[in-house]
Amino acid sequence: MKDSYGRRIDYLRVSVTDRCNLRCIYCMPESGIPHIEHSAILRLEEIQQLTGLIHQALNLRKIRITGGEPLVRRGIVSLVKGVSPLTETVMTTNGILLSEFAADLRSAGLSRVNISIDSLKDEVIRKVTRRNVTLNMIEKAIEAARNNNLNPVKVNCVVLKGVNSGELAEMVRWAERMDVTMRFIEHMPMTGSVCSHVPRDEILREISADLGSAELIATEGTADMYVTDSGIRFGVIAPVAGGMCANCTRLRLTAEGELLPCLAGGESLNLRDMLRSGSKDSEIIKAVHDLIAKKPHHGACGGVSMWRIGG
Ligand code: SAM
Ligand code: SF4
Repeated sequence: MKDSYGRRIDYLRVSVTDRCNLRCIYCMPESGIPHIEHSAILRLEEIQQLTGLIHQALNLRKIRITGGEPLVRRGIVSLVKGVSPLTETVMTTNGILLSEFAADLRSAGLSRVNISIDSLKDEVIRKVTRRNVTLNMIEKAIEAARNNNLNPVKVNCVVLKGVNSGELAEMVRWAERMDVTMRFIEHMPMTGSVCSHVPRDEILREISADLGSAELIATEGTADMYVTDSGIRFGVIAPVAGGMCANCTRLRLTAEGELLPCLAGGESLNLRDMLRSGSKDSEIIKAVHDLIAKKPHHGACGGVSMWRIGG
């Protein structure tokens, strides 16, 4: 289905939990997240049912399983098995538990993964995640993804002033050695974040100073893909600098069953309450269509939390 700006909305991001085993400084407060009643969180069967209905409404091209950290949700493999027959199913993870789950996720129908890494230095990774995470752990996660054919692996780095800015060119080189696609994300000033923003132009300047000028070669979803003079590809996702909204085909389902047409806020639809109060499938499908018609073109960031809505 197309929205009122002519965008075909066919990409659903499903946050399966608001919990996480890390406490990234740009995402969650150090003390963790406010307690949410267990009963407020969608059960796995509810996620599967709602995903199926949203697919009926929109003929989804892709479903991304995210969180919080999706691999801390019990039953994650059976959820992937339940939704993957609908359409291409992928996951964004911090990678910490990926070695344990990669083979089963692949057998359950997962196509590929995006893994987060914000530095190549253990002390910086620990500072960012507020947990004892090392580069070696993340490299093992990438290896597990690759060995289990969860390809191509993309890695996401949120660029933070005075934290990992200064390492970006080295990360591009590292990603080439690891045979993964490096993507830098502009930090968004969300609730819970305690970081400073580095704009797209500054990200590009830093990389070009080391690797030669970077030429824009393509747009892949919300990522602008560049190639350096030295022939290395990398991406930049610039929610703050802008330009993403025109290509945004996304909808988000939160762990509490709210369907959000835009990361930056605006109207939402409580599908959990509709489902639990016995709404008919046709009523839910109609409500999804009505919500798409109201998807905004550019909202202001802030006031929402990544761990709640799944990044
Ligand atoms: N826990 C998983 C992970 O970290 O990959 C999945 C959930 S996380 C919320 C999804 C994505 O959102 C990650 O790539 C993360 O880096 C990104 N993210 C979180 N907070 C952000 C912020 N304030 N600005 C930009 N990206 C952010
Ligand atoms: Fe957890 Fe991902 Fe948020 Fe980091 S970015 S705290 S790993 S949900």
